[in-house]
Amino acid sequence: MRAMLLEKPGQPLRLADVPKPKPNDDQVLLRVHACGICRTDLHIYDGELSSPKLPLIMGHQIVGTVESTGKNVKDHHKGDRVGVPWLGWTDNTCHFCQTRRENLCDNAKFTGYDIDGGYAEYTVADARFCFPIPKGYPDLQAAPLLCAGLIGYRALRFAGEGDRLGLYGFGAAAHIIAQVAIHRGWQVYAFTRRGDTESQEFATQLGAVWAGASDEKPPEELDAAIIFAPVGALVPAALRAVSKGGRVICAGIHMSDIPSFPYDILWGERILRSVANLTRRDGREFLNAAPEVPVHTEVTVFPLEQANEALAALREGRVQGAVVLTVGTDGRS
Ligand SMILES: [Zn+2]
Ligand SMILES: [Zn+2]
Repeated sequence: MRAMLLEKPGQPLRLADVPKPKPNDDQVLLRVHACGICRTDLHIYDGELSSPKLPLIMGHQIVGTVESTGKNVKDHHKGDRVGVPWLGWTDNTCHFCQTRRENLCDNAKFTGYDIDGGYAEYTVADARFCFPIPKGYPDLQAAPLLCAGLIGYRALRFAGEGDRLGLYGFGAAAHIIAQVAIHRGWQVYAFTRRGDTESQEFATQLGAVWAGASDEKPPEELDAAIIFAPVGALVPAALRAVSKGGRVICAGIHMSDIPSFPYDILWGERILRSVANLTRRDGREFLNAAPEVPVHTEVTVFPLEQANEALAALREGRVQGAVVLTVGTDGRS
């Protein structure tokens, strides 16, 4: 099968012919239709995450059709359309798994990092970690739900209750989660790079009540803020933007160093926390919620062979919404 291989961080992915994988007893074999590109992929590609399997097929927002199943697989059948997220396997036995925090599993394996992912014509995935894709979402529009949507949804849960929500970095995750937040009654304030008027307009079109530069103070104090951009300087900026009792949630897997800041801006019971990975419960909840909103995903599509160009487009912020690779998709819903 054709796959885009990461052989060494920092080097362009290479189009290669590799053996089609075989599912083990717990896995399904999927014919990949679409695979979303996540900022995490850029961090892996840049060597900012320490230990990817190499060579690696990246990609953890996979939409595909089940071609065959291992003998222990009961819930998915040949022909089913399923999605594969970042959390690819857990041990089910560690302290975290036993306390319903499988996102923190000590021995977790991640799709497109520890396990080959979806920048390929076929992939295998543990059936217990595959989700049915909601009807009404074509493959390309469904792919960004699987990480941008899902991790954003987990971050939104930790934002708690309130009226005014700030989103720092208005890319794939923010454009999805803004829609969910507005549906739930939040007023959304969008923060982008200074001068990025296109993203600010995009946010306003999606219903944000205010859009501005990330170093600007919003016109009102916020109840919570989610930081999607991997920029440590946004942490003190967001703490300054939230009111007493406000929550600041860091939703990315990697961030540049956070500059020191005065205790004053954390004082007043403000909370700063990260969000790590996802649980299967997040996945089920979000994929049920998405059609109710309904979430519309804005996607820019590249063919599989142009994964390097797609990564560059994401890095340079040249696209609004999400970047998705198409792998022989026929746009079925
Ligand atoms: Zn991701
Ligand atoms: Zn575990």
